[in-house]
Amino acid sequence: MLVHLKTLGCRLNEAELETWAQGFQKYGHSITRDAGAAHVIVLNSCAVTHDAARKSRQLIRRIHGQNPSAKLVVSGCYATLNLDEVEQTLGVDLVIANPHKHQLVEKTLSQLDFSSMPMFSAEPGEVSLFSRGRQRAFVKVQDGCRYRCTFCIVTVARGEEKSRAIADVIVEINALHQQGVNEVILTGVHLGGYGSDLDGNLSDLVRTVLKQTDVPRIRLGSLEPWEFTDDFFELFQNPRLMPHLHLPLQSGSDSVLRRMARRCKTGEFAAIVQRLRDSVANFNITTDIIVGFPGETELEWQESLAFIRQMGFGHIHIFSYSKRTGTKAASLPGQVPDIMKKQRSQALHALAGELKRQFLLRNIGSEYKVLWEAQSMAQNENEKLVFGYAPNYVRVACRVDAAADLENQILNARLTCTQDDYSLAELR
Ligand code: SF4
Repeated sequence: MLVHLKTLGCRLNEAELETWAQGFQKYGHSITRDAGAAHVIVLNSCAVTHDAARKSRQLIRRIHGQNPSAKLVVSGCYATLNLDEVEQTLGVDLVIANPHKHQLVEKTLSQLDFSSMPMFSAEPGEVSLFSRGRQRAFVKVQDGCRYRCTFCIVTVARGEEKSRAIADVIVEINALHQQGVNEVILTGVHLGGYGSDLDGNLSDLVRTVLKQTDVPRIRLGSLEPWEFTDDFFELFQNPRLMPHLHLPLQSGSDSVLRRMARRCKTGEFAAIVQRLRDSVANFNITTDIIVGFPGETELEWQESLAFIRQMGFGHIHIFSYSKRTGTKAASLPGQVPDIMKKQRSQALHALAGELKRQFLLRNIGSEYKVLWEAQSMAQNENEKLVFGYAPNYVRVACRVDAAADLENQILNARLTCTQDDYSLAELR
């Protein structure tokens, strides 16, 4: 059968698609990019914000409208939080809630009737669609979260913490590397909680991945800024572990962080950032900030902006607070008007742009092993600009001969100047 996989939302959802793709192929089915040609369509939905939930609903309807004869399987956080509604939605044949995601392939093949479907067999060694032509892959190592940040619906949708056995993670990474992947991103809902149910921790996992795999680049996905063990910082001495961490701060005001029930105050956050920056030059710290959290006063907002400026982030993902039914914050007093959220979001975008430019400037003159991608921009008939990422996740571009193919190669480049949100570089 031809299977089409689609996802909304986080890196974890993308990593799950990778695993399902490999699963369907194991049973002899093929993965197609063409939803119109598919016999089965699997959607991994998202509910992190109002918008994401609305997009999930819209996508279910659009997929069914585009290919009504295909079997439609819906999983993910939106489906988990709205099980009955999704099950009754026109065209949905099967709903797999998050706790059963690891059985999605088997449940799809056993619970849906495919007797009328033609069988296509996957060629031996046929690589999954998602790693084909892609230099990096997300690897899910953990699911769920024991914390209850008051704005977070993910912890409600994903349930308790569950870690994958290290041996399984190693097998998957080595298989991806054999398929040509040069960078893996370890990802989870609460990555820092890895091993909490296995009597281990994230440092153990990273150390073992460094020892038992040969993949050139290992990157960590989004990581809550707490639970770091002392040996964690030393791991970055290994050049295969990328000196970039995405640490969601959410607010730069301690009183707002308290109302969010976050486990990290600004002082602790600053200390973690300092230790990371001391461990590797130009260590890149990126973050998430929620603007307009209930009760956020002008004073708290100014505190937040001042602390964010002090941290000098390489990039900031900015979210306007989105009330999520089922979270504590939804019933907190002092909901901030949309107009004020918009103003604060605009102010933070301006600051984020300034901090990003400053960080890019700090990298000028540095030489990095860049992982080059397929994306390029023709400059003239003889030249093109190819793009890639430095280990610290600075986006880099380089002028090369129009016929050159740098895709998925790791080549040295020296950063020469900044351009918009990336740096120009010359190959060395
Ligand atoms: S730690 Fe992260 S996943 Fe867990 S509740 Fe807080 S925001 Fe949600």
